[in-house]
Amino acid sequence: MQKFIDLRSDTVTRPSKGMLKAMMSATVGDDVFGEDTSVNNLEERTAKLFGKEAGLFCPSGTMTNQVAIKTHTQPSDELICDTHAHIYINEGGGIAFNSGVQVKLLPGDRGRISAQQVSENINPAFDWLPRTSLVCLENTVNRAGGSYYKLNDIKEISEVCKKNNLKLHLDGARIFNALAETGDSPVETANYFDSISICFSKGLGCPVGSVLVGDKEFIKRARRVRKVFGGGMRQAGFLAAAGIYALDNNIKRLKDDHLRAKKIAEVLKNCSFIEELLPVETNIIIFSLKEMTSEEFLKKLSDKGVKGIGFGKKMVRFVTHLDFDDTMLEKTLKVLKELN
Ligand SMILES: *Cc1c(COP(=O)(O)O)cnc(C)c1O
Repeated sequence: MQKFIDLRSDTVTRPSKGMLKAMMSATVGDDVFGEDTSVNNLEERTAKLFGKEAGLFCPSGTMTNQVAIKTHTQPSDELICDTHAHIYINEGGGIAFNSGVQVKLLPGDRGRISAQQVSENINPAFDWLPRTSLVCLENTVNRAGGSYYKLNDIKEISEVCKKNNLKLHLDGARIFNALAETGDSPVETANYFDSISICFSKGLGCPVGSVLVGDKEFIKRARRVRKVFGGGMRQAGFLAAAGIYALDNNIKRLKDDHLRAKKIAEVLKNCSFIEELLPVETNIIIFSLKEMTSEEFLKKLSDKGVKGIGFGKKMVRFVTHLDFDDTMLEKTLKVLKELN
């Protein structure tokens, strides 16, 4: 058993007993030959859930994003995304390294860009301007405190993309958290995107894995890129089986994570050490500190058995997840009140 309460990320979850059992009894084969029935099953089910033709299982969400960007673009193209985007900040400069693509960063509303912003930032087709070929949205937005898009805003962005012949990719690492709040249909949402990356190792509680979905022709090309990136796995069905288990068992409960996050926010609101608390809409809580640095605050917190993560000098992030229950919530609330 873990001795501390871990709110650093929703990636810290361990596979549950039921998930482990599903993994151990998976039927597998060589997935590079397309013969792993569990991988094929997870890819098909995820694609179907989002109304897409095909899926591609990858080791990480970074890989599904990077494979998508590589598949949608040519070197020297430009892609458009928000300043907070994970693809830009947290993927090691992979857009430049893997795709030779440059980025036009737009300051959105807590990570969410608008159709008008996109429209105003598409380069005209002069030889001396990079060719704008791709728009990437993130939903929910990690670094903006788990904010999510309204379906109509996505629709408007997608219309601008279609009109200007741009592809639209969604970094949907936490798309199920967004859908749990909006109640929007996954199929209708996905219909506005050419591709979506979906993480299974976040709120869904899997140890490893993300799935990229899109049309057949796109996924065929993406499968080749995945191999080039070194992401072609063999008996990956043991991992895919965790994903299948998660689709069956771990989506319905995401709202519990959101409720717990909101309870933490209620207490934080009244804490004198807080400078600003971003609105808490899903499972992410981000706040800045008045006097302490994030390092000092996190030290005090971990001395009392709770861990968060620093986002720069003054900001702290907590993320609620499958392995954070009501008992841990009560303890966390108590610790925060003590620190106040
Ligand atoms: C976690 C995350 C990813 C993928 O990260 P991996 O650690 O590579 O799985 C992508 N986008 C966002 C917004 C994320 O939070």
